[in-house]
Amino acid sequence: VTDVEVIHADVLREPAAAVARKTRGRTVGEVGRRGKNVVVGFESGGVLLVNLGMTGRLLPRGPTDPPPPEAGHPAVRIRFGDGSVLVYDDTRRFGMVEVLGPGEWIARSAGLGPEPLDDTFTAARLGEGLARSRSPVRSWLLDQRRIAGVGNIYASESLHRARIHPLTPAREIDGKGVRRLHRGLRSVLRDAIEAGGTTLRDYRTAAGRPGTFASRLAVYGKEGEPCPRCSTPVDRIVFSNRSAFLCPRCQPEPGAAERTPDAPDGSPDRGSRPEGRG
Ligand SMILES: [Zn+2]
Repeated sequence: VTDVEVIHADVLREPAAAVARKTRGRTVGEVGRRGKNVVVGFESGGVLLVNLGMTGRLLPRGPTDPPPPEAGHPAVRIRFGDGSVLVYDDTRRFGMVEVLGPGEWIARSAGLGPEPLDDTFTAARLGEGLARSRSPVRSWLLDQRRIAGVGNIYASESLHRARIHPLTPAREIDGKGVRRLHRGLRSVLRDAIEAGGTTLRDYRTAAGRPGTFASRLAVYGKEGEPCPRCSTPVDRIVFSNRSAFLCPRCQPEPGAAERTPDAPDGSPDRGSRPEGRG
């Protein structure tokens, strides 16, 4: 790193001069991800941590690459000795760029829950976490201390794949439900990563292209549209100030499953439609 130019210091947590001082002269080693953060590791230890927030984009450019196609809102520009540039671009600037020392980074990472795509994240481990909480499972999934990296879109989608209602208390999900949720979470995240992410409006990949997972969303943002599994119109409910989307047939309300299917009041009031299974 030869130069750090801070155009908008409101994406930093400390003065621009401090960030520049801690970054200049460093060499980038491994680049990875932890939870919702891009982790740019320095060879000498420590990391540059980037959280994209709502509208952030991290745009790397090689020495001979043309300038990015879209005129953006650069907030931080980092230049390297070989002529390459890394721009953190953020229209609304809810994102965050930080430089952490090795110890600070270890402590920060330890405060985050397990990575759902990690080999060590088994259904049993998910079950242990869920069993300790009476929170609604959607809130549990969004809590970065319990599981890392799941946001509102992938919480809604994985709960739909798992056929679990978002308000179900975490500890009331049975063994089968835990295994479905484990499978749902990992499959949704893998599919979304393969598609380059979900672009509803602002998100771009590091190559500056929109992700294509939005076209494969089953319930998120689909209020009133048919569930891809059973064609029942998708519902939107709001709790903790966030919308959750669900299929009222595939994801019965907590407690509803205890009623037997042929009890007089047991079936949902949408019975004229034939049962669809997928
Ligand atoms: Zn459905």
